Amino acid sequence: MNKPHKARKRFGQNFLQDSHIIHQIVMSIDPMPDDHLVEIGPGQGAITQPLLDSQCRLDVVELDRDLVDRLNTQFSHLDRFTLHSADALSFDFAALKKDKPLRIIGNLPYNISTPLLFHLLSQAAHIQDMHFMLQKEIVNRLEAQLGSKQFGRLSIMIQLHCQVEALFDVEPECFNPQPKVMSSIVRLTPHAAPPYAIDNMPLFERIVRSAFSQRRKTIRNTLKGICNDEVFQATQIDPTSRAEALSINDFVNLSNHLKYE
Ligand code: SAH
Repeated sequence: MNKPHKARKRFGQNFLQDSHIIHQIVMSIDPMPDDHLVEIGPGQGAITQPLLDSQCRLDVVELDRDLVDRLNTQFSHLDRFTLHSADALSFDFAALKKDKPLRIIGNLPYNISTPLLFHLLSQAAHIQDMHFMLQKEIVNRLEAQLGSKQFGRLSIMIQLHCQVEALFDVEPECFNPQPKVMSSIVRLTPHAAPPYAIDNMPLFERIVRSAFSQRRKTIRNTLKGICNDEVFQATQIDPTSRAEALSINDFVNLSNHLKYE
């Protein structure tokens, strides 16, 4: 018998221990035998085992070498299981793809969730869907719409690439050790066809980042040096607005208009 694993804070380890919630998560994912799943941060296998029960193919990416050894002992006899001892932040997910797009799953370490989401979005063409446990506050920002306080750069960049569905909340008591915050499960489904035609993505990202860099300032101020009053006039966007009053479409219009300056 292995010694019990001591949770490491620096790896963002909060292990799921509530069988009802684990069941609810696996039901939401609804894995099929011919699915190709990838689990990020399997930890002690709380979700890994029930996922494998569906007979799916499963790759897992785990950073903590102690846990890698345990997972190997537990699951490596299955040839549909592959363990990658690696950092998900720099992992090449697209390289795992065989014939079907990947389904990504993870009870993610909260300290790396935003950079990890951006890393995965860069490979969205190879992904069927993603189910993540995140801090509830992050899920609120992912799904926030124009007019809401949480609407910002994260909402825009995620909604450009994915449909966002907040599924349900998970109480701190469901984990060991318990996180200090409420968590939520979210489903992200990359759009089959891009809903917005953006001519120059780096320029678009620059505008969104600058506009939200100081939320209380007007966009005339935050976008100084990028957009002048003629651009605002041509796109019919009020330069005295704040970033949170602009729709995704407004940002698309601004950046596409600039390209033709
Ligand atoms: N899925 C498990 C564990 C969640 S805790 C459960 O629900 O119980 C988060 C897991 O992510 C831990 O196993 C931690 O070691 C792992 N992890 C942390 N940073 C990581 C990274 N950069 N890449 C891959 N795994 C990471």
